[in-house]
Amino acid sequence: MAAHAILGASSSHKWLNCPPSARLEEQFENPTSVYAEEGTLAHSLGEALISNDSKAIKDLKKNPLYNSDMQQHCEDYRDFVLELLNEAKAITPDASLLLEQRLDFSKWVEEGFGTGDAVIVADGVMRIIDLKYGQGVEVSAHENTQMMLYALGAYNSFEMLYDIKSIIMTIYQPRIKNYSSYEISVVDLLTWAVNVLVPAAKLAYEGKGSYKAGDHCRFCRAKHLCKALAEYNLEYTEPEMLSSELLSDEDIAAILTRADGIRKWLTSIEEFAFTEALNGKKWEGFKLVEGRSNRTYSDADKVAEALVSAGIDPALIYEKKIKTITALEKDLGKKPFNELVGELIIKPAGKPTLVPEGDKRPEWNSADGAAEDFKNVNI
Ligand code: SF4
Repeated sequence: MAAHAILGASSSHKWLNCPPSARLEEQFENPTSVYAEEGTLAHSLGEALISNDSKAIKDLKKNPLYNSDMQQHCEDYRDFVLELLNEAKAITPDASLLLEQRLDFSKWVEEGFGTGDAVIVADGVMRIIDLKYGQGVEVSAHENTQMMLYALGAYNSFEMLYDIKSIIMTIYQPRIKNYSSYEISVVDLLTWAVNVLVPAAKLAYEGKGSYKAGDHCRFCRAKHLCKALAEYNLEYTEPEMLSSELLSDEDIAAILTRADGIRKWLTSIEEFAFTEALNGKKWEGFKLVEGRSNRTYSDADKVAEALVSAGIDPALIYEKKIKTITALEKDLGKKPFNELVGELIIKPAGKPTLVPEGDKRPEWNSADGAAEDFKNVNI
């Protein structure tokens, strides 16, 4: 199992915003998930493909989480990285590529290190590529502190060997086609390190500083018990926060910006309370009961057999259903599936959704009369 730094790069957005969170989180378990395991497998496969390590590739393919989509995404990642390496070599013949490299940024952050998926070191521009296999949250490279910490670690290791002037940091998130890059000069990176990173990291390492809630709380292991986050999420229930008897447009907009975070926070509290209750904890005013359930066949084959023997027409017993697009693509392969029936696949217009202004999708045009079609849609 990989070692984790107290002030890791991947959690830096959190501890830079809320320094005491780093030590507070130590009290809580860091559960692993199938998504994390899938990500680890994709990283190993990407590394093996770039290194052309056929034995490793063969072994990785035996993993139950492996599939042809993962193979395709990782081959695309390999091609992307190798193309950048070739570009770098055209300028710096001895440019080098480092894979899954430990990047030490402890010069600025006590015990700080992380792992860079792909680092291309060359004169002029150094490139850092981070493969993100998740598809839940789109990650931007713009002023991304995880990438900036990797950049510091890589710069620290190679500044003596190469004349590095700037770093291009790229998030490669193939499953949602998100390829985000951001360039920062070495001067700006080092200025940020001294002025912003070092003071916050010192507080975080010592468990000091002020709790500050925000978007960064989403991945905090303390979120279900944190008072600062509870106060932040309940802020709009304070009467003085609201303008009059009826909510104003500004009130609604302000609440909407918090809605997603509040929903997730409530879920984390419910899950925590439920797990504790299963372990015997009594919550004042609550009790565990058996949930509702639906009737089901104890043995579906026997039921069908009995009905057929009783003379019931099989057409009344069975229903024919085509597999989903995703399932068929998986079984047949995307390309053959597309060649055979691609023309018969349609994508109906999605129903309107209210999202923050920063969302990449173009604004929905209500002037085309489609509003009528959606007036009974449940949000
Ligand atoms: S939930 Fe948010 S405010 Fe609370 S400790 Fe974690 S990061 Fe800080």
